[in-house]
Amino acid sequence: MEKGRTRVDLFEYQARDLFAKHGVPVLAGEVIDTPEDARAATERLGGKSVVKAQVKVGGRGKAGGVKLAATPDEAVARATDILGMDIKGHTVHKVMIAETAPEILEEYYVSYLLDRTNRTFLAMASVAGGMDIEEVAATTPEKLAKVPVNAIEGVSIEKAREIVALAKFPAEVAEKVAEVMVTLWKTFVAEDALLVEVNPLAKVASGDVIALDGKVSLDANAEFRQPEHEALEDKDAANPLEAAAKAKGLNYVKLDGQVGIIGNGAGLVMSTLDVVAYAGENHGGVKPANFLDIGGGASAEVMANGLEIILGDPDVKSVFVNVFGGITACDEVAKGIVQALELLKSKGEDVSKPLVVRLDGNNAELGRKILSDANHPLVQRVDTMDGAADKAAELAAAK
Ligand code: GDP
Ligand code: MN
Repeated sequence: MEKGRTRVDLFEYQARDLFAKHGVPVLAGEVIDTPEDARAATERLGGKSVVKAQVKVGGRGKAGGVKLAATPDEAVARATDILGMDIKGHTVHKVMIAETAPEILEEYYVSYLLDRTNRTFLAMASVAGGMDIEEVAATTPEKLAKVPVNAIEGVSIEKAREIVALAKFPAEVAEKVAEVMVTLWKTFVAEDALLVEVNPLAKVASGDVIALDGKVSLDANAEFRQPEHEALEDKDAANPLEAAAKAKGLNYVKLDGQVGIIGNGAGLVMSTLDVVAYAGENHGGVKPANFLDIGGGASAEVMANGLEIILGDPDVKSVFVNVFGGITACDEVAKGIVQALELLKSKGEDVSKPLVVRLDGNNAELGRKILSDANHPLVQRVDTMDGAADKAAELAAAK
């Protein structure tokens, strides 16, 4: 588990798999990431399918991320449309090719979650499913039944019937929904989940109820007894910048401020974070945006890699490069910075954020001269750490 992560939100296809494992009724489905794969997947489902964007955000249907395909060719076309789509700021990298539901007659909502405020688990159920449940809760709260669930007693079929009755499910589906509530509770407990949600739970022409969409959040603190959960974590999306930095061998941690930080040596970077946070207090509370240690051998390439990661962070408004020349002397670092900026520009990167550079230590004078001579419009030299931190904070606040 990565540090600081307490919950792991799953994609719909992963939720579907967990539901299937524990007996919650679902339709067949498989996940793909290239449009052409939609063909074979649809053929396996008998020639038609639903193409569903896999992004961890609701409202995919309304956004055009859920489409029916009547033939394998159509599935390829819909997958082409949907892959790469942006849904509320989430890029679609995968789609699920799912079995089409038989005619949907009604759409319900059911869920279990950990209710921290009331220190209990909570069952929620509504006959007004399909749509945004927050909206149901806000506009017609009487249509959303909420029932506390005792952790020891759990959800027996009797308890499930109680929930279903309170939510006023139609008599002809009540028993089937109650059975789903029992298996869904089993899923919740067995998987150490913090949330399991089905929306919609659809009543189809045959009279059966089927979970057509699932949302699951797992408790990351339970991973010690859930060895299979590690594979469900979407490490890239958890932090794309951290993943990119890791791929480049950089020691980078994303923070939530606005001043990008690059330094050499973990100790120096740590104190740079403190100094920037302190200086930021005089500039509207700006804070460091990251930890990035480029280590002792700060070549132009390493500097370019570091700058690329930091400049790629939309939260970053200014960058503070704080280097104390040691094994790698300051003139090398200065050349590295100048070359890095050229390198990024030639790669078509958007290099428009101001850089404040403080060089000290081995060959500092020479390094400073190289920067002054380069006279790069975005680079400012400040020779003290406090002064440079203040400048970087000021520039971030001005943006
Ligand atoms: P969401 O919009 O992100 O919640 O995505 P859903 O998976 O809930 O899909 C949105 C809507 O698409 C559902 O409420 C259904 O009405 C519809 N839908 C989903 N799967 C199917 C299916 O297999 N067949 C049909 N006809 N409609 C579906
Ligand atoms: Mn849904």
